Amino acid sequence: MTKVMIHPATYENTREAVDRAFEIFPLQLQGKKVLIKPNVLRSSRAEEGIVTNPAVLRAVVEKVETLKPASIIVGDNPGLFNYGANEESFRSAGLMEAAKGYYQNIGNDSRKVDFNPAFLPTVSVSRAVLDADIVISLPKFKTHGLTVMTGAIKNSYGILPGAQKAWLHKESGGPVRFQEILVDVFRLRVPDLFIMDAVVGMEGNGPASPDLRDIGLILASDNAVAMDAIVATMMGCEPGSLRILQKAREVGLGDYDLSTIEVIGELKPLPDFKLPPFSGQAILSNETIQALIKNRMLMRPHADPELCTACGTCIDQCPVSALSMNEENLPLVNVDLCIACFCCQEICPEKAITLR
Ligand code: SF4
Ligand code: SF4
Repeated sequence: MTKVMIHPATYENTREAVDRAFEIFPLQLQGKKVLIKPNVLRSSRAEEGIVTNPAVLRAVVEKVETLKPASIIVGDNPGLFNYGANEESFRSAGLMEAAKGYYQNIGNDSRKVDFNPAFLPTVSVSRAVLDADIVISLPKFKTHGLTVMTGAIKNSYGILPGAQKAWLHKESGGPVRFQEILVDVFRLRVPDLFIMDAVVGMEGNGPASPDLRDIGLILASDNAVAMDAIVATMMGCEPGSLRILQKAREVGLGDYDLSTIEVIGELKPLPDFKLPPFSGQAILSNETIQALIKNRMLMRPHADPELCTACGTCIDQCPVSALSMNEENLPLVNVDLCIACFCCQEICPEKAITLR
């Protein structure tokens, strides 16, 4: 039987719930390389409730420190609006400070791995994720206009740097296929522990809705399907109706049937919880967002010859080796390789790179 912990918490006493999570789901971390992955959708203030709250990240980092790992990395790849602003996305919400010096821009280095032959043969995954011995995922309790909810499984979408996320969004062609792709991405590296920030959750048209909801809980599990089934139930949504959970069960990642899940704590549906208005169609039918996704996918970096000093930093740092120096000593992008992560723009010391 899988277990899900539901523990009362505030942002002032989060550590108590985190300690309890590690008691129920013990991890041997001594001498291990640990990656902690919060949900950092985009640059925002902590009180907007769009990203994992820094109090939760800090509590997990401080707990992990006590378990004497060989190394700790805190990182994520933000979404559509902030591909080239990884540090800013962490800093604006206070997550940089909460990471206590363990922050790393994990979008700067990635490795190609086999993906789904019927859809896209390979994807680039942040190397820090693939190299970690232990991955601890810190999702946020939120709704999502395309997938109804965003929880433990969807938090792993951030292991993909850059515009691959937008590309997969677009090419999936609809919410059902997109939810299946989320499971494919999740399976590339199943995290070892999930600790969810449900102190303040989000309802309405997430994942960046202004409708916040005081829930006052931290959830934990070592199984994402079980955790997301509990989240769906709390949102008033039948877990078995969500394609993301159906697909996850089909491929053997766990079970969403509540009779197979031991709840440690009290499971109560949230009264009158507001699900996204079009249940899975909100983002798809929003022409502005669709146009933005398409534009971001098509953008590529260009170096300004007036500003570029040919230092080569962008070439060294491109996670997929898509840049090379041309005969005029200007970095040139190979559009077939570029994943539009915008790391080169972020890293250029001369601010010579623009996106076109
Ligand atoms: S990092 Fe900037 S200055 Fe250096 S080669 Fe690239 S574009 Fe030119
Ligand atoms: S060329 Fe720039 S935007 Fe494209 S993959 Fe490399 S670092 Fe990312």
